Amino acid sequence: MSVQDQLKKIKGTIPPNVTLVAVSKTKPIEAVLEAYEAGQRDFGENYVQELISKQEVLPKDIRWHFIGHLQSNKVKMIAPFVHLIHGVDSVKLLEEINKQGAKLNRVVPCLLQIHIAKEESKFGFSYEECGEFISSGKLDSMKFVQVQGLMGMGTNTGELALLKKEYSELHTFYQKMREMQPAWTILSCGMSGDYLLAIEQGSNMVRIGSSIFGEREYQHKV
Ligand SMILES: *Cc1c(COP(=O)(O)O)cnc(C)c1O
Repeated sequence: MSVQDQLKKIKGTIPPNVTLVAVSKTKPIEAVLEAYEAGQRDFGENYVQELISKQEVLPKDIRWHFIGHLQSNKVKMIAPFVHLIHGVDSVKLLEEINKQGAKLNRVVPCLLQIHIAKEESKFGFSYEECGEFISSGKLDSMKFVQVQGLMGMGTNTGELALLKKEYSELHTFYQKMREMQPAWTILSCGMSGDYLLAIEQGSNMVRIGSSIFGEREYQHKV
């Protein structure tokens, strides 16, 4: 099936309140354009260099989501244009984004990443760390970041019961945080293999790559 057919098929399964981020990492410009021509505007990338080279040549109305692990020294490269940084996993990184936003006089939209998976290798705040940070009020002094919600990556497993538990806990926590941060609107979780489950558990932003663009031929090492 073509990218456009795959995209259409997936869109047909996603309720209108859920944003679909098409994850185009490792895929060529032509594949992004195909999806763009079918009306897709939100695209996700994991690697700063790849994001920048695509952003330079692709249409300017694309909303670029950075969904990978972001190193502090690379924030300044994407801060001028990025639509949403999903993987903010430390206060230090948030401070750097705030600093770069201030230089540009641009408020940079972000999500805090919560470590919900069983694997050690995934990044993110623990629930406790995130709760403490939000309660501390430190966010109020960061005028050039706008946290819009939370992001999580489930365990890399076919075990749906485990993923369901992880996503449902994340959603419960998201709702609890929203009592302190009523302006939050985004809960980003769910990928090709589990996005319907994630939506059932309350996700309103899904990040889908291989189901749209096909399997990735190579993997960058992070
Ligand atoms: C690659 C990636 C995705 C998309 O994964 P698929 O299984 O191809 O849909 C989603 N989120 C993050 C953070 C990723 O790195």
